[in-house]
Amino acid sequence: MIKPTYSIIIPVFNEEEVLPSLFPRLEALVSRLDASCEVLLIDDGSRDRSPEIITKALASFPWLRFIRFARNFGHQAALSAGYDFAQGDAVVCMDADLQDPPEVVVEMAQRWREGFQVIYGVRNARAGETLFKKFTAWSYYRTMRSLARIDMPVDAGDFRLLDRNAVDALRSIRERNRYLRGLVAWIGFKQCSVKYDRAGRAAGETKYPLRKMLALAFDGILSFSSVPLRTALILGFVVSGLSFITGIAALVVKIGGWYTVDGWTSLAVLVCFIGGVHLTVMGLIGEYISRIYDEVKARPLYIVAENRGGP
Ligand code: UDP
Ligand code: MG
Repeated sequence: MIKPTYSIIIPVFNEEEVLPSLFPRLEALVSRLDASCEVLLIDDGSRDRSPEIITKALASFPWLRFIRFARNFGHQAALSAGYDFAQGDAVVCMDADLQDPPEVVVEMAQRWREGFQVIYGVRNARAGETLFKKFTAWSYYRTMRSLARIDMPVDAGDFRLLDRNAVDALRSIRERNRYLRGLVAWIGFKQCSVKYDRAGRAAGETKYPLRKMLALAFDGILSFSSVPLRTALILGFVVSGLSFITGIAALVVKIGGWYTVDGWTSLAVLVCFIGGVHLTVMGLIGEYISRIYDEVKARPLYIVAENRGGP
């Protein structure tokens, strides 16, 4: 079979409820695109029936490819695998839960034909998401933008189209704590965005609990910014400066003979406070070191257990 023009990457983690409604939407998309298309479903170690459902679908859809991970390696690893296996000249990522409407891909493809190399899907509205998620996402994208010195588009998730050149550039970055949104902004190229309304999840529950969301947010900030380290340093300076002044004041009071209170409380508070600052700063440094450790081990980003379908 000839190489497809478009590749669509979809990470799947315990998505048995949405898969049945996903296939017809994909089929419609594949027929609407102006050139050949392959769809890569990357099963990120699902523990439900998703792998069986996809394996069955392989027989009915010639454009479908199925890659199964040996265990759950996480959304970003699944996307990375997608970029590694995709053969198309334009590669689109989207979520399995139909929150990123497949129809928008047609619009992205038009912009790609116009010569853009990185096309972001930017969220207009976020239906069916909690106020908490909307607020945290809103503030996170803006904090990230002011901390990291790269021009990251706000409100753009992992729904995007990349040209082959951009994909190859992205693939040359093999860092382990990946924050693809940042990396995509970092590689540059001719970028533009397509606005879309983010739908609610078609079925099932979110596979991004708060724990995973926080981990991703942390990866984003720590791998693109050393501002937190600098803040730790400044905090250290401020606190030691204050301690120094307090020390001088204590001496003056003592020498002047005004020293009457036994002053245990202030001492205890000071010791606790400085201890707390120490621990925070050490923990912060530890976060960076643990990331360095991960990089040094240089383990593969994911392990593929099965690779089926497609050309
Ligand atoms: N996902 C994954 N591995 C994980 C968690 C999620 O591959 O460990 C996939 C999931 O199947 C979906 C996409 O990542 O296709 C986005 O997840 P979800 O829709 O649950 O996140 P949300 O939209 O709630 O942020
Ligand atoms: Mg979702």
